Amino acid sequence: MKAVFLTQHGGTENLQYTTDFPIPECGADDIRIAIKATSVNRADTVVRNGYPGLSIPMPHILGGDIVGIIDHIGENVTNYSVGERVMVLPIISCGNCPICINKPEENHLCFNWQYFGMHIHGGYAEFCTVPAKNVVRIPDSISFEEATCFGVAGLTAYHALYTVAKIKKGEVFMIWGGSGGLGTIAVQLAKAAGAIVIATVGNDTKKQAIQSLGADYIFNHYTDDVPAEVKKLFPYGVNCIMDYVGPATFPKSFDMLQKGGRMLLCGILTGRESMLNIHQTYLRHLSIHGLYLGTKRELEELLALASEKSIKPLIGKTMDLSQAAEAHELMVSGGYMGKIVLIP
Ligand SMILES: [Zn+2]
Repeated sequence: MKAVFLTQHGGTENLQYTTDFPIPECGADDIRIAIKATSVNRADTVVRNGYPGLSIPMPHILGGDIVGIIDHIGENVTNYSVGERVMVLPIISCGNCPICINKPEENHLCFNWQYFGMHIHGGYAEFCTVPAKNVVRIPDSISFEEATCFGVAGLTAYHALYTVAKIKKGEVFMIWGGSGGLGTIAVQLAKAAGAIVIATVGNDTKKQAIQSLGADYIFNHYTDDVPAEVKKLFPYGVNCIMDYVGPATFPKSFDMLQKGGRMLLCGILTGRESMLNIHQTYLRHLSIHGLYLGTKRELEELLALASEKSIKPLIGKTMDLSQAAEAHELMVSGGYMGKIVLIP
């Protein structure tokens, strides 16, 4: 089958394209999906470079977004049929750890979690075999390309804003880097909840598109003094900030939070460590939430919301799977908007 795989970590030159990778076997409780679209996520570039503390067996296929048509079902699978349009919850939970047993509704926190494209083979391929419990049907109104925006980026945004932060009407929400796959959906979800939305971009040409998605205030994080501008608008600060950038923005995010504010941390693009003022944290009743992805229920809720057309993914570029290295270069350069989709 077609696949893009790594044999070692490093730069984009390590993304090798082939047409003869072995098609995965389908176990009794599994479903094999003929992939029609996948996408590039920030996590893919981190895993390509070598994820801190994680040893990955090689060869390895990247990709957390798996979207396509059911090609084969295992003998124990009864509730799905060959030919159905489906996508995949990107986390596999073990079913046996204390979280899975006592809090199955929060099984994205499984102690033995596995993430497609990180711990196991992912979606940069023509086929992928997944546990049937991870499969979610795609509403007819959502295309394969659009669905790739929801599995990782959309699910993370939905979980962060609706389940963790419980963003409310009239609250001020801010996101650094609002023009990517996560940002463009987070802006729309915050707006759908009635929040006032501040987003940043790295290039003024992206402002118009973010505004059309619903952002109320847009700043350029390279040329504007963002904390000063936000303070002018909201002297008491903002209620909720999503930060996946890391040390480059964390101190600014922290300072901008108002009393009772919530920080949503979901990325390490500029490093892994940052100073934290403990005194200010308790004095201002701040909450710092680390998070990634979400649950199957949340993914189904997000798809239902999207199919009502209140949430429309922004697809910036569609490329052939064989162009995965070029797609990674594009993501790292920041010269795109929304999602970069790959078609096998
Ligand atoms: Zn578990």
